[in-house]
Amino acid sequence: MADYVIPPPAVAAVPVAGGGAFPVRRVFCVGRNYAEHAREMGSDPDREPPFFFMKPADALLTGGADMPYPPQTADLHHEMEMVVALGKGGTDIAEADALAHVWGYAAGLDMTRRDLQGQAKKEGKPWDMGKGFDASAPIGLMVPAETIGHPAKGAIVLKVNGAVRQSADLSHLIWSVPEMIAYLSRLVALAPGDLIFSGTPAGVAAVGRGDLLEGEVAGVGTVRTRIV
Ligand code: MN
Repeated sequence: MADYVIPPPAVAAVPVAGGGAFPVRRVFCVGRNYAEHAREMGSDPDREPPFFFMKPADALLTGGADMPYPPQTADLHHEMEMVVALGKGGTDIAEADALAHVWGYAAGLDMTRRDLQGQAKKEGKPWDMGKGFDASAPIGLMVPAETIGHPAKGAIVLKVNGAVRQSADLSHLIWSVPEMIAYLSRLVALAPGDLIFSGTPAGVAAVGRGDLLEGEVAGVGTVRTRIV
């Protein structure tokens, strides 16, 4: 073991339905992967190549914990997403083999400081501080693909204080799960423990302190957090 000069950081992990925990290496996110959301963000939803950004693994917020309203924003948005968890890595993964690399799935939220992201876009600067802040990735229980298979259709819904804010179907993904894995594996060497947030449908909007966010991906599970 290395002679660490400070205590090593804890391994980020997502609790698994039925017990155990999935250790997380990196968190990738796909941008603009539902046509209606691309339109609401002012983009052309034509099939431009997928693009990716990242959040630090320790931005994951598990167990239905409260999410502290983050600093330096007046426009905190929800983005309800299905999360793909890789159990096997690789480079240049073929679409036909991609699903064999998936360990499981979860429901997650790509929380976004929309004002910081918008400013960064306008100035041609990185999105990191709009996307990768502390507690910016609430996530529900992980479920193994062995149990649920590989969901390609089914409702993805987010309610805020009981009212539906986002509602779509996984079949509306512009880039499917196998396609996003294949594409990403040509950019970086994927590894066991990597997560991919697969993009959000239309209906993103601001939330504030006290709001209760409850999301569900049919056949996968739920995610829940209250902004405090
Ligand atoms: Mn997103």
